[in-house]
Amino acid sequence: MEIQELKDFSKRMHKKLESYYKFDDPRKLNMPITIKIMEELGELCDDVLAHSGLQRKEKLEKKDMDNLQEEFADVILTTCNLAENMGVDIEEALQKKIKKVDERFKE
Ligand SMILES: [Mg+2]
Repeated sequence: MEIQELKDFSKRMHKKLESYYKFDDPRKLNMPITIKIMEELGELCDDVLAHSGLQRKEKLEKKDMDNLQEEFADVILTTCNLAENMGVDIEEALQKKIKKVDERFKE
């Protein structure tokens, strides 16, 4: 998968969210997307606990690798949606951050 595919998806989702919420100010869309990120992050945390054997038995039934992958994807996609809404080029942001972290841990 190319990062352009991710950016294109974010642009499509951005248009759908804009037409769904119909906010008068595009900045208002940041709030529901941010809340969605937190919801998805909570679901990922739940799956991480389950896959680490730290979840209650009743919650383990529907947990499998497919579900774990889906939750990772949900967090990444909703985060990219917020970046798109806030005018952040996620590819540029990732490149800069990877370079910064690489520099930090350079031997
Ligand atoms: Mg989810």
